Amino acid sequence: MVLFGPPGSGKGTQAKLLTEMLGLPHVSTGDMLREHIAAGDALGMEVREIIKAGQLVPDYLVIRLVEDRLDRADCEAGVLLDGFPRTLDQARMLVGMAEGRGLRVLVIHLKVDYDVITARLTGRRLCPQCGTLYNIRLKPPIVAGRCDIEGARLIVREDDKESVIRQRLVGYDAQTMPVLEYFFARVRFFEVDGSDRKPEHLAKEIVTWIRSAIDADTDEISGEGL
Ligand code: AMP
Repeated sequence: MVLFGPPGSGKGTQAKLLTEMLGLPHVSTGDMLREHIAAGDALGMEVREIIKAGQLVPDYLVIRLVEDRLDRADCEAGVLLDGFPRTLDQARMLVGMAEGRGLRVLVIHLKVDYDVITARLTGRRLCPQCGTLYNIRLKPPIVAGRCDIEGARLIVREDDKESVIRQRLVGYDAQTMPVLEYFFARVRFFEVDGSDRKPEHLAKEIVTWIRSAIDADTDEISGEGL
């Protein structure tokens, strides 16, 4: 299963809920790469500067990482991929890898109105001392502009400024659209609007779709759906 969603869409929350509900491992290439950087190994050294610069890690490195991960025993029944694939070559490789392992690819696209995302992220405030995150609309501090724990003056993170958020969303579109179009024509694809839904409700709807997609595939394989 591949989960797509723009920054600020709540993709991280959905990944967590879905892996819990389905009992499948959550495989995030971003997390795996950060683990290698933290370990200071050869791969970590190779990708450190690339990630710092906000660029994409070369396909062959990410593909190898995902292939190794999919070969582990806990992925036999399936896996929830997060942050992969990000390029057409990675998407093609994934379809090939899945076929070779007798797995199907299901794609979930979490769509959220960009004005909603901008409102969510520009409302975020950070305590520079303890790192606690607030949101002036959704999770305000007790005293406006001050951290509940430290009393420090809250700040807006550099990448939560509106112009930066718009830039990140444009970047997401440019990177993701070709990959989504590739999948749309080839695999089971579910687009769900998460603009004003409770995360738990959204996750339930996604799981219902996943189950029906799996049932439809099983029927097709056994011939019952024909
Ligand atoms: P993420 O946590 O998914 O935002 O990923 C953090 C960073 O890791 C990205 O900005 C890229 O530099 C790198 N990265 C993660 N996944 C991939 C991927 N599938 N292809 C290339 N680079 C990736």
